[in-house]
Amino acid sequence: MLKTRSTKYVLAIKEIVNKNSHLTNHDILKSLQLFYPDLSSTTVHRITDRLVKINQLQLAPVDRNNAMRFDSNLVAHDHFKCQKCDQLRDVKLPSSMISRLESLITGCKINGSLIIVGLCNNCFLKNSKKEREFI
Ligand SMILES: [Zn+2]
Ligand SMILES: [Zn+2]
Repeated sequence: MLKTRSTKYVLAIKEIVNKNSHLTNHDILKSLQLFYPDLSSTTVHRITDRLVKINQLQLAPVDRNNAMRFDSNLVAHDHFKCQKCDQLRDVKLPSSMISRLESLITGCKINGSLIIVGLCNNCFLKNSKKEREFI
């Protein structure tokens, strides 16, 4: 059994990852320290580690600094990753598309989640605005 003090943190961490999925330990700490100034990075690490072990959080693709990101979406899914702002978006590729990819990669079976890389709408708009300014 977890002690009451850490239960409070466990609930807070679950809630914040549910609200904004794909957070790192550092993101979680930064957001929660506003409400819980005593919360330490060791506690956050310990809790997220435990939540992954008991399948209440999943690991998402790492961020650009190779920091672990946590996913509240526990159903198997793929990701879109913005190469500019590093944001992840959940996407579920249809099995027809997976079969098509497998036929292109002869002799291989895809059984993990895929990461599609590109620019999110926000970054795409910012980029095209910048390009226009240069003309
Ligand atoms: Zn972006
Ligand atoms: Zn995800």
